Amino acid sequence: MKLIIHGGFFSESSTNQETKKAKQDALAEIVTLGYEYLKTHNALETVVYTVALLEDNELFNAGMGSQIQSDGKVRLSASLMDGKTEKFSGVINVEDIKNPIEVAKDLISYDDRVLSGEGAQNFARKNGHAFFNPITAQRQSEYEAKLNQSNNKGTVGCVALDDEGNLAAATSTGGKGFEIPCRVSDSATAAGNYANQHAGISCTGVGEDIVSNATAAKIVTRVTDGFSLKEACDKTFTELKAFDGFAGVVGISSTGEIYHCDSHPYMVWASFDVNLQVFS
Ligand code: ASP
Repeated sequence: MKLIIHGGFFSESSTNQETKKAKQDALAEIVTLGYEYLKTHNALETVVYTVALLEDNELFNAGMGSQIQSDGKVRLSASLMDGKTEKFSGVINVEDIKNPIEVAKDLISYDDRVLSGEGAQNFARKNGHAFFNPITAQRQSEYEAKLNQSNNKGTVGCVALDDEGNLAAATSTGGKGFEIPCRVSDSATAAGNYANQHAGISCTGVGEDIVSNATAAKIVTRVTDGFSLKEACDKTFTELKAFDGFAGVVGISSTGEIYHCDSHPYMVWASFDVNLQVFS
C-alpha cells in the first residue's frame, strides 16, 4: 500500500516559513489520514477521500479557497481515474460546489463521464451536492487587489496503490486565477490525471503546458511500455523543457515505485510508504 499527494506549487508571495510549515503540517496530516483510510478501502475510494480533505483545506487552490477567474467567479475542475477499469470521470468549470472530486466520483458509473459548467452543476444538485460558496476572504481580497495574476500554485492531487495492487489517481483545481472565464484546466483531462494497471499520475502547474506535453498519459504509457516510473517522468520532463513547460507530478507504479518531480521549484507533496515523508 502506498499513497502520495501534492498541494501544487508555492506562489512567490507564499514562500515564507510560516506558510511552508502550515502546508507541510497540512499535507502530513492529510496523507496520514489517507493512508489510514487505505487500510480499509480501495485505491479509488482513497484518492477521492484524500482529495476531498485537500479541497476542504483553505491553504490549497481546490474546493474551498480556490482562485477566482477574471469575471469574479470561482469555477472548479476535478477528475478521477480508476486504474483497474481504466474509467476516467470529471467535472470542468463547475460552480458553487464544495467537493468537485465527489461529483467526479458520482459520474464514474455513468456512460457520460465528463461534464462541464451548468450541466455539471445540475448533475451535482440532482445527486445531493448542496449549494456551497468556496470564495474565502483571502481569495476575495487577492482578487480585488488583482494580486493573484501570478499562477502555478495550489492545485491538489493524490495517487494510491491499494493492497490488491489497484491504482487510482485524482486531481482537483480552482485553475490559474484571473483566467478568461471558462478556460479549461488540465486537471480534468488525461494530460493532468491518468492511471491504469501499471501507474497513476497527478499533475500540477500551467495547464496549457501540461496539455501540450500530455504529461500524465505519457508517463503512464511509458511505464506500461517498460520504463521505470523515474525514467518515464525524467524523459517526459526533458520534453517539457523544449518549451520551458511548467509542471510537477506525483506518481506510483504497480511495482510500488513512488516518485515526484517538478520542472521549477517547488511543488509541495507528501507520501506515505510505511513511513511518512513531506517536502522540506
Ligand atoms: N494545473 C492547473 C491549471 O492549469 C493549475 C495548477 O496546477 O495550479 O488549471
